[in-house]
Amino acid sequence: MSSLIHYTACPVCSAGTIKEALRVKDHSVSGEEFSIWECAACHFRFTQDVPDAASIGPYYQSEDYISHSNTSKGLINRLYQAVRKRTLKRKRKLVQQQTGMGKGQLLDIGSGTGAFVSEMEKSGWRVTGLEPDSGARQVARESFGVNLQDTSGFFSIASRSI
Ligand SMILES: [Zn+2]
Repeated sequence: MSSLIHYTACPVCSAGTIKEALRVKDHSVSGEEFSIWECAACHFRFTQDVPDAASIGPYYQSEDYISHSNTSKGLINRLYQAVRKRTLKRKRKLVQQQTGMGKGQLLDIGSGTGAFVSEMEKSGWRVTGLEPDSGARQVARESFGVNLQDTSGFFSIASRSI
């Protein structure tokens, strides 16, 4: 049975000063509207009333979800690949600027087909990537030579070197 997770406090800092910041529609898969809330204390934004782990899977299942297929056929996909390449570079630079580190260790949760993990590894970062979808993990291996882990290993990460 599916159920929703309703936050009464910030999931990051536990402050109770949270309120709705905006409403957004999932145009790519479900067509449903979601509420994004913001914490007044740490400014973290998160999805309110998010589907729980048992029911969130279908929200990521789409034939059009290119990050899980990596095809380069067709004009739209070529355009997507070009934009993604540029976006990945910007993400890498953002991480490097914010951490003040050229390279280091990184935990990427929800890695999709591993494009970001691959980008960071090419720059010398040691990355642990977690992705619940086995199909996406397979594409990551085949497309980028990236070995992603199932999210079930999340709670054992802290006890070992990554
Ligand atoms: Zn907070």
